[in-house]
Amino acid sequence: MKQLKVDAIKNGTVIDHIPGGKAVQVLKILNGKAAGDPVSIGMNLPSAKFGKKDIVKIENHELSVDDVNRIALIAPTATITIIRDYETSEKWKVEIPEVIENIAHCPNPNCITNTERIPTRFDVLSDGGPGFMCRYCEKVYEAEGLKIKVG
Ligand SMILES: [Zn+2]
Repeated sequence: MKQLKVDAIKNGTVIDHIPGGKAVQVLKILNGKAAGDPVSIGMNLPSAKFGKKDIVKIENHELSVDDVNRIALIAPTATITIIRDYETSEKWKVEIPEVIENIAHCPNPNCITNTERIPTRFDVLSDGGPGFMCRYCEKVYEAEGLKIKVG
């Protein structure tokens, strides 16, 4: 049983302003990036902006912009802080990338990505809120309709 703690960390990455209840999905997406590093999760913390938010802290590991933009699919409001020696070294907001590769399954059971088990690619459409178009079957989905791949 891992102990829950949301204390300050000496070195590492803090992912803040994750929508409440999404921290576990964020970790799924980042799985492998922080393998073996201590991870703390705070869930459903009060937030003036969002009502409830989650926080993820990864000790001794600095995530890259590319790593972190992968989580934009489920946590577009997240902010990233890189901590070095207890001080904020860098801080930025997650940006939704133009293409989302192999993070989510295509919900279309007849899509070639499901029948042939090939990596998925979604183009991000931004007209009137983000939509995700499968490059193979060309169907458009909202973030809620996509199933995040595990592992
Ligand atoms: Zn598809």
